[in-house]
Amino acid sequence: MSKHNGDKAAAALLTLANDPPHTTWQSRGVQRLLDNNLIWAQSTTDTDPDFFSRLAHQQSPEYFWIGCADSRVPANQIVGLAPGEVFVQRNVGNQAHHSDLNCMACLEYAVTALGIKHVIVSGHYNCGAVRAAICMPQKTEALVNYWIQGIRDVRDEHTDELAQIRGLSARVDRLCELNVIRQVFNVASSPVVQAAWDRGAELAIHGFVYSVDTGLIKVCIVVRGCCEGLWVVVVVV
Ligand SMILES: [Zn+2]
Repeated sequence: MSKHNGDKAAAALLTLANDPPHTTWQSRGVQRLLDNNLIWAQSTTDTDPDFFSRLAHQQSPEYFWIGCADSRVPANQIVGLAPGEVFVQRNVGNQAHHSDLNCMACLEYAVTALGIKHVIVSGHYNCGAVRAAICMPQKTEALVNYWIQGIRDVRDEHTDELAQIRGLSARVDRLCELNVIRQVFNVASSPVVQAAWDRGAELAIHGFVYSVDTGLIKVCIVVRGCCEGLWVVVVVV
């Protein structure tokens, strides 16, 4: 960048910095978050004066949460965990593809660096991604159409069961459960988790489905290990 352009950029930044808050829709929208942040940081410090200094030095969560990106399903909030207690990766439809480097890198870090003991795949009923896997025309060009193919594969594996369920909403909700179960096995069969179990690590993979209507979680499956090619499964619904 030339000096002249650099001066122009600096001038633009200065103008933005001097722009008083609450004058544009952008600043109004974000200012509320900054105000909330001040209140939250102060009240947290009032309750626990060492909270931030403790977290600043180390995070040692016991849980890794793979959840849907849906704004109604915030991981910490719905299971009552504070910052520092759960490592989180969220994506559309709470999927754990082995080809998803983001999810697999988070899983690797969670298991090998953080030493978490529980991986939780959490879906939710009435999930838009799952509904799209049933209703969205496959010729749709949007990227989400590619992304939900894994859920379509689950749908196709359970065609007979889903066909017997009356009503689209009920079919979507059952596919939400089946998708979570599939993603749990994707996590369980990942090299990171298989190697951890080989080392004798205490590690369980849980499948949750959350109800946005009631705020309650249903446990669909827990996988605790793999022995001679057989899964050690606690519950399946
Ligand atoms: Zn969703």
